[in-house]
Amino acid sequence: MVKLFLDAGHGGKDSGAVGLGLKEKDLTLKIVKKIGVLLGDYDDVQVLYSRTGDTYPTLSERAAMANKAKADYFVSVHINATPSGTGFETFAYNSVSSKTVAYQNVMHGEIKKAMGNVRDRGKKRGNLAVLRETCMPAILTENLFIDNPGDNKLLKQDSFLDKVAQGHVNGFVKMLGLKKKATVKQMETKTAAKQKSDGKLHKVQVGAFSDPKNAEKLAEELKKKGYNTYIVKE
Ligand SMILES: [Zn+2]
Repeated sequence: MVKLFLDAGHGGKDSGAVGLGLKEKDLTLKIVKKIGVLLGDYDDVQVLYSRTGDTYPTLSERAAMANKAKADYFVSVHINATPSGTGFETFAYNSVSSKTVAYQNVMHGEIKKAMGNVRDRGKKRGNLAVLRETCMPAILTENLFIDNPGDNKLLKQDSFLDKVAQGHVNGFVKMLGLKKKATVKQMETKTAAKQKSDGKLHKVQVGAFSDPKNAEKLAEELKKKGYNTYIVKE
């Protein structure tokens, strides 16, 4: 069983960065919750949170929680801000183990890949409290800039926050070799089978026939063969 500690940056009285209608504390909580839900599909993972609501544990409290729980890995999720900035970057503490370097490398690569076409600001080092005070490999992700109009537009899309979360999960899966639960695999097989059968759906366009009656004939034949057939009158 691997214990993954998810820290949603800021919260409560501390909004974090604010810009163009968004607050960092809300975005980080949304992303962290999405990460937690996605990780629920995998075997042998325990997900721990520094907060699951709009509360403000101090930075030292967050690190202490992870240490006390003997978490194996720690990730703190943030959104950046400065007027001139754009893109994605990650931080690890100034002096780190090779395990942490590998952790940052994998997570950084997978999150960037999932985000798609955003600027890669690189893997950085910093003397940040949650990274300094945690005993396990720890990184901090800065997921775009809240006050950059282009980044902000992406951060307003729930589907983009899904990608950010998926990137974090892909990193854990790749690094730890996580396997999906048998029940999840079954569901996925069922869904794939359903999609395959739905592939039998046939559209018959009346406009494609010189005589509309021929379109109806074809539709009848297809129906007899077991295809889900529908007619478009154009
Ligand atoms: Zn922050």
